[in-house]
Amino acid sequence: MTDCIFCKIAAKEIPANKLYESENFIVFLDISPANKGHALIVPKMHAQSLTELPEYVAQEFGEIQLKLSKAVMQATQAEGFNLLLNDGKVAGQEVMHAHMHIMPRFFTDDFHFKWTHKKYGANEMQEYFEMIKGNL
Ligand code: AMP
Repeated sequence: MTDCIFCKIAAKEIPANKLYESENFIVFLDISPANKGHALIVPKMHAQSLTELPEYVAQEFGEIQLKLSKAVMQATQAEGFNLLLNDGKVAGQEVMHAHMHIMPRFFTDDFHFKWTHKKYGANEMQEYFEMIKGNL
């Protein structure tokens, strides 16, 4: 028996406003939305981090993002949207089961999502470029 709330929703042990379901995914409305129509795309397989998902699941993730983003935009008549995946406590993840938020946005909403832009030191950008490329 899992303690994970999204595993319980995927297993239909607790209810959710299900928008879409496939063999590997369930999509439902966020119970406490940033704006009305805020949806969550959740892989049924339990993985805390996106990086733990197998590639075939990650590929379907992309397809569902496109499908659901269009539906949320049409339905809410939003002026834009954010796709947001908080990965890890430090990044704001509260439910430790990987999921993607689709958040409809309006110019008049109260959503603040800002960071300060850092500067690279001499050669640092090249170093990061090479470190990341070296891990591909
Ligand atoms: P995060 O901070 O990225 O882990 O986001 C977790 C999200 O899950 C929050 O926006 C919550 O409102 C949402 N949430 C938590 N429990 C439920 C639930 N039972 N049904 C729908 N959404 C939920």
